[in-house]
Amino acid sequence: MWCLVTVISVSNSVSDVAEGLTANRRTVAMFGGTFDPIHHAHLRLALELRDRLAFDQVLLLPCALPTHRESPGCSADQRLEMVRLAVGDEPKLQVDDRELLSDEPSYSYHSLLSLRQQLGDDVSLTMVMGADALLKLDSWYRWQELLELGHILVVSRPGWHLTGDHPLADWVDQHRVENFERIQNSAAGGVYIQQLPGLDISATAIRQLIEGGSSPRYLLPDPVFDWIKQNHLYTGETQSKTGAETSNNDG
Ligand code: ATP
Repeated sequence: MWCLVTVISVSNSVSDVAEGLTANRRTVAMFGGTFDPIHHAHLRLALELRDRLAFDQVLLLPCALPTHRESPGCSADQRLEMVRLAVGDEPKLQVDDRELLSDEPSYSYHSLLSLRQQLGDDVSLTMVMGADALLKLDSWYRWQELLELGHILVVSRPGWHLTGDHPLADWVDQHRVENFERIQNSAAGGVYIQQLPGLDISATAIRQLIEGGSSPRYLLPDPVFDWIKQNHLYTGETQSKTGAETSNNDG
């Protein structure tokens, strides 16, 4: 159960985020993930953020493989194709392939930097992650500089929570913003916690179902499941890998 809201002190609005507050900024969310494969929790989360928090754009950004994660069961190109199939013609979501196109080792820091350079200094840019990802944030490449480039939005995830004794609790407390308008009206620097209806779906469980010969249907979009079947993914046989899979990503 997600309980960050209750275990972290709420007396911590971030005054320096308030500096440079400007109404009517463009708001862009970057939602990175391995998406191995993309599933309905990813998609609902992205759509809910777009609608509830009125982001102008929500970008789904498949990540190059982090070193601290297992090898994916398929190539970067295949993960990207599944994200494209999942989004389909949904106008509220967009796919961003910048991390997989790079020949360099790719980290979330670089993706955020690249987006900031593309969008300019005024846009409110927010990196989205689930509660499980937040708990490992301090292992990410240049993680403390992420807030210089954008905001961080943490979404509740069933089974994951940050307790007050976690090494990141004080850092979250220090940067946390209670009012989302502060995120909308500033370019970077805040951590915002968003509770969403929980969908207890994981890509790991989907891969395990397929490998075990069971159906993951209804946990992910049918076009994605059909494509997985056509390409015999996650069956336990060795899958081909692209160059992007060997990059030294660590968040
Ligand atoms: P795996 O099981 O392989 O670790 P996953 O289901 O966690 O995969 P990722 O692609 O690693 O999927 O996740 C991308 C982002 O989506 C991460 O920030 C993760 O925290 C978040 N996320 C994934 N599933 C959920 C969920 N059910 N609820 C909330 N957030 C989620």
